Amino acid sequence: MDLRSDTVTMPTPAMRDAMAQAPVGDDVYGEDPTILELEAMGAALLGQEAALFCVTGSLANLLGVWLLAERGEEVLCDAKAHIVRAEMGAHGALHGITTRTWSTPDGVARVEDIEPMVSFDSGHLVRTAGVEVENTMNFAGGAIQPLDQVRQISAYCHDHGLGLHIDGARLANACVATGASLADYGSLATTVTLCLSKGLGAPVGTLLASTPDRIARARVQRKRLGAGWRQAGILAAAGIYALENNVDRLAEDHESARAFAQEVRRGAAWAVPDQIATNIVVVDTGTMDADLVVAQAEERGLRLSKLSSTQVRAVTHLDVSAPECVEAGRVLAEILQEAQPA
Ligand SMILES: *Cc1c(COP(=O)(O)O)cnc(C)c1O
Repeated sequence: MDLRSDTVTMPTPAMRDAMAQAPVGDDVYGEDPTILELEAMGAALLGQEAALFCVTGSLANLLGVWLLAERGEEVLCDAKAHIVRAEMGAHGALHGITTRTWSTPDGVARVEDIEPMVSFDSGHLVRTAGVEVENTMNFAGGAIQPLDQVRQISAYCHDHGLGLHIDGARLANACVATGASLADYGSLATTVTLCLSKGLGAPVGTLLASTPDRIARARVQRKRLGAGWRQAGILAAAGIYALENNVDRLAEDHESARAFAQEVRRGAAWAVPDQIATNIVVVDTGTMDADLVVAQAEERGLRLSKLSSTQVRAVTHLDVSAPECVEAGRVLAEILQEAQPA
């Protein structure tokens, strides 16, 4: 039972079939029909006019944020954001863009928290060029950014000449959970991403969507970074298959995450939050070291990832069945019986 991440999913025989059949061409020449099809499909789904197929979510974020800010400018985001915690400092290291962060107890972004942080041209403060919001919020237990609040942030950014980047690695999870469409969120952003290789089950790939003009610039920068594709339509075909077949079923992952948490609660009621929003459960390990919890779980056939010395994470996905998730919760509940709330 591998619940370390929803990136561990394997392409199914049907997905591999779609990959094998895909017509391909040289994408640096703009001649891969399957990539072009995926990009058109992604743009339409995300409520934007153009999209770019990227090898990872980190690359799509790197380009999306770069489109908002010049070297020496800053982008504001949550202290738990993937762009500041899990992208190896790329935005600063490669593009000279700094970040300043807000913190919220629940990972939900609110315009009231962002507004006081913005600094406009003043001659001595770093100019804020944009805002980044992650939906769902990975390190905040898969929290959903409510559409209404993203709308308020978007309106604020628009009125003040700031760009808005939405890291939508798991935007499809937010949509399936709330009934909003990808375009409802995507059209509020200047630049928006959607990962095909998380819960959607493709082996590789993330879409970045925006205006044709921005996507054209991103295409050049992607090449500059050494990440142009050639006959990658075989990978794009997996993405198309994922978008056509694996979106609605995310509801099952959310159900499994709730069932998992319910089992953990039986052994350690304090260890998991009352509400599980999507497919991610952040588990508090209390007085037990998270490394020990991960090691003991591993011995019993359950793989989890460590988030901090007192937190582990379980992510449900299409390669772990509902009964397996219940069993995983049972295993973890037993392990945590040795722990006390910290
Ligand atoms: C996984 C993830 C990404 C992208 O990760 P890659 O491994 O680079 O594809 C971006 N943002 C969030 C919130 C993620 O969870």
